[in-house]
Amino acid sequence: MKINSNYKNLPESYLFSKIAKKVEEYTALHPQAQIIRMGIGDVTLPICEKAAAAFVKAAAEQGKAETFHGYGPEQGYDFLRNTICAYYESIGVHTAASDIFISDGAKSDLGNILDLFDQDNTVLIPDPVYPVYLDTNIMAGRKIVFLDANVDNGFLPLPPQGQRADIIYLCSPNNPTGGVYNRKQLKEWVDFANEQDAVILFDAAYESFILDNSLPRSIFEIEGAKTCAVEFCSLSKLASFTGTRCGYTVISEELMRGGMSVRKMWLRRQTTKFNGVSYPVQRAAEAAFSPEGLRECRKHLDVYQENAGIITDTLTSLGIWHVGGKNSPYVWMQCPDGMKSWEFFDDLLDKAHVVGTPGSGFGKNGEGFFRLTAFGTKANTAEAMERIRMVYGR
Ligand SMILES: *Cc1c(COP(=O)(O)O)cnc(C)c1O
Repeated sequence: MKINSNYKNLPESYLFSKIAKKVEEYTALHPQAQIIRMGIGDVTLPICEKAAAAFVKAAAEQGKAETFHGYGPEQGYDFLRNTICAYYESIGVHTAASDIFISDGAKSDLGNILDLFDQDNTVLIPDPVYPVYLDTNIMAGRKIVFLDANVDNGFLPLPPQGQRADIIYLCSPNNPTGGVYNRKQLKEWVDFANEQDAVILFDAAYESFILDNSLPRSIFEIEGAKTCAVEFCSLSKLASFTGTRCGYTVISEELMRGGMSVRKMWLRRQTTKFNGVSYPVQRAAEAAFSPEGLRECRKHLDVYQENAGIITDTLTSLGIWHVGGKNSPYVWMQCPDGMKSWEFFDDLLDKAHVVGTPGSGFGKNGEGFFRLTAFGTKANTAEAMERIRMVYGR
C-alpha cells in the first residue's frame, strides 16, 4: 500500500494555531489586557432574518410526508439556480441556469475542481495567497510557479510575460490583501489564458464587497472569459453563510479543453462524488438573494465596510502604506518601522493589545506586511485604531 506522499510536502499549517497560542500566553501573563481581535477571517453578524425564516420553514417541511424532500437535483434546485442567474443578470452577466452548480461552499469546489485536470500541468499562484490554492495543488503533486504580488504592482500581479501556465488562480477582491483587479487588468488575464489555452480559477467570494461600479464583480463581465474561466462564489461572506454552507460554481458551455466540455466534466464529477446541498440550506440561500434578503445582507456588509474605512483612514493619517479596505473587508498594511510580520504581531499585541494576522503566513512576499480584518464591531475597530494611533503615531 502506498500513501499519497505529496502530503509530505505540505507546509505545516501553524499560522492560526500559532496566533492563538501567542494570545493565550500573553493573556495568561497579562489578565487585565483588553484584547481586540482583528485577525478574524469569519463574519460576525448573523444570516439575514429572511434566510433564517426560510431555513426554519424548509426544515419543518422535511418533517412532513407531504412536503418531504429526498435527494435533490445534483446541480442544485432550479429555484436557487434561477435566483443566482437573476443575481448575475443584475450585474450585467448573462448565464444559463445549467452553468450554475450549487455546492456546500467555494472551498470544496476550489479543491475538487482539480479532479478535472492532469497532474502534469503548471499552476500559477500569486504570493501572498489564500493557502487553499497552494495546498490542494501540493497534494496533487503539481508544478507550482509563484507570481510575485508586491508594493510595485499594488499586490495585483499581471500576466508574467514568457511564463507558461495551465492553471491560474485569481482572487478578487483578494484575501489576504484586499486588492481588487479593474476591468483592464482582468482583460489582460483573460487574453493571456485564452492565448495559452490555460484555465483561470477565479475566486469571487468577496464580490459583494465591491461598491465601486467601475470594478468587475465577476470575471464573466470580461469579454472572452467564458472560454477560459471558472468562477467560484459563495454565500459565506455575502450572507453570513460560513456556518450554514452554500456556494456556487459557474462554468460556461463555451469552456472546452482537450476536446472536452469542462462543464460536462464537472457535472460528471459532481454527480459521481457529491449528492447536493441540503434542501433547507438551498431555501435559505434563495431567501438571501431575494430583494429583501439582499437589502438586509447589505446592511451587514455596510457595517464591515464602515469598519474597513475606519482602519484605512487611520493608516492613511499615520502615513502607513496599505492596500485594500475599499471594496474588501481586508486591509493589508506594511509593518511600521521596518518590522517583520511576527515582530509587529508581538509589538502590536504587547503595546496595543490588538491581534492581527502576520502577512508572512500567506507567502514569502507577505513578510513585512500584516492583515487586519473589518469583521469586528464598530466600537472595537475604532478602539483598536485609536490604540494604534497612540502607539505608532509620531
Ligand atoms: C471565505 C473565502 C471563501 C469562501 O469559502 P466557503 O467554503 O464558501 O466558506 C473562498 N475563498 C476565499 C479566498 C475566502 O476567503
